[in-house]
Amino acid sequence: MKPFAYVDARNEQEALAALVPQRGRTLPLAGGMDLLGLMKDYVLQPDTLVNVKALDAAIEAPAQGLVRIGAAARITDVAEHAELGKLFPALTHAALGVGTPQIRNAGTVGGNLMQRPRCWYFRNEEFHCLKKGGARCFAVDGENQYHAIFGEGPCHIVHPSSLAGPIIAYGGRIRIVGPDGEREVEADRFFLMPDRNMYGETVLEPNELVTHVILPRPQNVRSAHHEVKFKQSHDWPITMATVALSMNGDVVQSARVVLGAVAPIPWRARAAEAALTGQRVSAETAHAAADAAVQDAQPMSGNAYKVRVARTTVHRAVLRAAGLSPTA
Ligand SMILES: Cc1cc2nc3c(=O)[nH]c(=O)nc-3n(C[C@H](O)[C@H](O)[C@H](O)COP(=O)(O)OP(=O)(O)OC[C@H]3O[C@@H](n4cnc5c(N)ncnc54)[C@H](O)[C@@H]3O)c2cc1C
Ligand code: SF4
Repeated sequence: MKPFAYVDARNEQEALAALVPQRGRTLPLAGGMDLLGLMKDYVLQPDTLVNVKALDAAIEAPAQGLVRIGAAARITDVAEHAELGKLFPALTHAALGVGTPQIRNAGTVGGNLMQRPRCWYFRNEEFHCLKKGGARCFAVDGENQYHAIFGEGPCHIVHPSSLAGPIIAYGGRIRIVGPDGEREVEADRFFLMPDRNMYGETVLEPNELVTHVILPRPQNVRSAHHEVKFKQSHDWPITMATVALSMNGDVVQSARVVLGAVAPIPWRARAAEAALTGQRVSAETAHAAADAAVQDAQPMSGNAYKVRVARTTVHRAVLRAAGLSPTA
C-alpha cells in the first residue's frame, strides 16, 4: 500500500476542510470495508485519508415528518432499527442481506452508497480500462458474467449497493455538504451513468461528503425487496429488486420498481412501474410487470442468464410487496 497521511476529523467541518478538489488525492474513510481493499490492491492511491466516522451516525424517525439516517450510521444500525423496520421494510431487508454481520457492523450507510464497482478488471491494477483512463472496456470481450444487462456501456459495471434501491424506491434524498454549503439531491438522481461520470459513480465532487439519507414517511405504501445470490452470505447479489407500491385501496396508484446489480446505476424499471399502475396486484400483473422490467435488456456474451434471474427477482418482489405468495 502506498504511504498516506491520515486526518482524524472530529466533525463535518474538519472533514470538509481536509478534502481537496482533485479527484482521488484525498478520500473519506468510513468503515474501510471497500476503500482499504482498493488501496491494498493499488487501484486507489490517495495521498490522504480523512476519517469520517465522526459524521452524524444517528437515525431519527420522529412520529411525524422526515426520517433522517446519518451517513456514519452502521448498516447493522439500519437493519436493527425497529421503527425503520415498520416504515421501510424493504430497506431493513436489504440491510440485513449485506455481506456478513462483521461487514454490516463496520460498513456505514455513506460508505455503502459510495462503494466502488466490483468489476474484476477495475479491481485489478494490471487492467487500465476506461474507468481508469484507459482506452477500452475489458469486459466487452472478456469475462462478463456478472456485468450489466442494461445501460449500453461504454463501461458495463453494475451498481453494487443493496441500500440504494430501497432508498430510491421510497423517494429518498441524499444530503451533501461541500465547500459551498449543503445541497439535497433526489436519490434517484444521485447516481450517474458512465457517460456522465466515468471516473466516479455519483454526482458527488471529490471535496464533498454525503452526510444524510432523508426519507419521507410512507403513506399507504406496500413494499418489498428481493435478492438472488449464488450464496446466502459474504457475497453481493446477482440481481436485486425493490418494489414500492402507493395504494389507493387495493389498486396501485403509483409504483417504483428499482433493480440493483443489473446496470451501472440502480435501474428504474419504468415499464414495470407502468404495468402495475392502476392495477390490482395478482399473479398476472406480477408476471406482466416482470416481463416489462426486462423487455429492454441487452445482455453481454456471458450474462444472458441474468435477464431471467432479474425477471424472477422483480416477479417475487412485486408479489411480496402485495402480500401474495412468491409461488403465485
Ligand atoms: C465480502 C463482502 C460482501 C459484501 N456484500 C455486500 C452486499 O451484499 N451489498 C452491499 O450493498 N454491500 C456489500 N458489501 C460492501 C459493503 O457493504 C461496503 O463495502 C461498505 O458498505 C462500505 O462501507 P464503509 O463504511 O466500509 O466504506 P469505506 O470502505 O470506508 O468507503 C467506501 C467508499 O465510500 C467513500 N465514502 C465513505 N463515506 C463517505 C461519505 N460520508 N461521503 C462521501 N464518500 C464516502 C470512501 O471514500 C470510499 O470510496 C460487501 C463487502 C464485502 C467485503
Ligand atoms: S466494466 Fe467498466 S470498470 Fe469494468 S473493465 Fe469495463 S470500463 Fe473498466
